[in-house]
Parts: sequence; structure tokens; C-alpha cells
Amino acid sequence: MAWRYHCGNCEETGGWTSRDDAEKARAAHRGRAHTGLAPDHDELQSNAERANPKMWLYVIAACLGLWVAEKIGLLGAILSFAPEQ
Ligand SMILES: [Zn+2]
Repeated sequence: MAWRYHCGNCEETGGWTSRDDAEKARAAHRGRAHTGLAPDHDELQSNAERANPKMWLYVIAACLGLWVAEKIGLLGAILSFAPEQ
């Protein structure tokens, strides 16, 4: 698993590395950009984070939209609108 440091205040993101090195990068950034203090929105991110659960809402909404479009004949109307050859 890889880790990286992200500062939301500066929008600065470090490269993927070990957790120890990501923590060192965070400490170095705090010292350099925030006079050693912790900014409001900094975090260590891991590449093992799960997908955003909201993504499934969008997928379900898209499927529901297609289903409704098919039920009311909109999909057929759109597809049959293609110019004939
Ligand atoms: Zn910062």
C-alpha cells in the first residue's frame, strides 16, 4: 500500500511513497508552508481507499434514467432519429 501527503490549503500533493516518508513530507511541508503548524485540511491518503460511495448513486441514477427513457419511448425516438443512408 502506498501513501501520499495532501494539503488542502495549498492544494499540494506529494508522490506515492511509504507511510513513513509521507509523514516526513507532511512534516516538511508544515514547516515550510505553515510555520510548523498543522493546516486545517491536510491528510495522508492511501491508494487502498475504497471507491466513493456516491459513485454508486450516479450509476443507479443513470441506469434508472435509461430505463425510464426506454419505457417512454425516448430512446427509440433518439436512435431512430439517425439519418438514413
Ligand atoms: Zn499547505
